[in-house]
Amino acid sequence: MRITALAGGVGGARFLRGLLHHARQTAAAAEGRGAADHLELTVIGNTGDDITLFGLRVCPDIDTLLYTLGGGIHEGQGWGRADETHHLAEELAALGAEPQWFTLGDKDFATHVYRSQLLGQGMPLSAVVERLSARWGLGELGVRLLPMTDTPVETHVVVDDGGDQRAIHFQEWWVRHRAALPAERFVVAGLDRATPAPGVLDAIREADLVVLPPSNPVVSIGIILGVPGVRDALRGTRAPVVGVSPLVGGRPVRGHADVCLRTIGVEESSAGVAGLYSDFLDGWLVDEDDAMPDRRGLEVVRRPLLMSSVEAAADMAGATVDLGMRLRAARATA
Ligand code: GDP
Ligand code: CA
Repeated sequence: MRITALAGGVGGARFLRGLLHHARQTAAAAEGRGAADHLELTVIGNTGDDITLFGLRVCPDIDTLLYTLGGGIHEGQGWGRADETHHLAEELAALGAEPQWFTLGDKDFATHVYRSQLLGQGMPLSAVVERLSARWGLGELGVRLLPMTDTPVETHVVVDDGGDQRAIHFQEWWVRHRAALPAERFVVAGLDRATPAPGVLDAIREADLVVLPPSNPVVSIGIILGVPGVRDALRGTRAPVVGVSPLVGGRPVRGHADVCLRTIGVEESSAGVAGLYSDFLDGWLVDEDDAMPDRRGLEVVRRPLLMSSVEAAADMAGATVDLGMRLRAARATA
């Protein structure tokens, strides 16, 4: 089965790790019956969070996907490497190098050095991500990770800093200010001129199922949807599109998706998020306790949506795949 997913960082990566876990369990059970159907997963990662720090290109969402799926993630943080040291950052701080609000560990730095070296030689980001994916063994897991675009795209936030309006990088707003500086709007530099990376549109068109993990609907999935051609591909694909709400009890499980939704004038609820995808969404998983009014053409399934463990994420992913398969079967007989 070919599944294509659009993903941001932590929420997307944890869900997709659950999907791989679920697929392994199902494949093991099916092998016993001689009927294995292996998962081929294509992940389209958000690059709007990308930033240049100390002269190095950093791709936070892509790296969170690599480290989580490849088994090198710092579990407690949800980002960065496990068993990290910070000698480089300490020395940079001693030198007075800026910025000091973005934490980068030594092993993580190696990723950024290598990526910047290859980009500097003229290699497109998608080819760089392929190299990094090999390091993390994604191919052996049946995973192909694609950046949404090879063109540099950066999400910026126009903030009101005591009556003074200015645009700052999304990471500065999110990490340094913890989304507490009042945001007027998001401006995504380079997005309208971006072209989808090789394979992105085909992966959506040729999938058996398209999945939207519980990633941030505004600054993760919303950015990918803004790459010219992606939204049309989602509207046109034969595959059902099934999404998972990032809100539980009307609040984000982590991060500040509620602030992001408010900034773009969308209700902070699972219904509000589904509304952002209404032109292509077929199935929607919401938490058991969340209100979700009926919507024509949208099949809603209620499930506990807390990814408290890999197994819990695998259950959510299993329910997502089941819903997708049900929608596919219904279409085949329609
Ligand atoms: P980021 O780029 O690291 O911010 O990660 P994503 O954009 O992929 O995901 C962030 C979103 O994941 C947030 O809006 C969270 O509410 C959501 N999220 C994180 N953990 C969970 C969880 O356990 N369950 C659900 N339903 N959503 C979650
Ligand atoms: Ca992100």
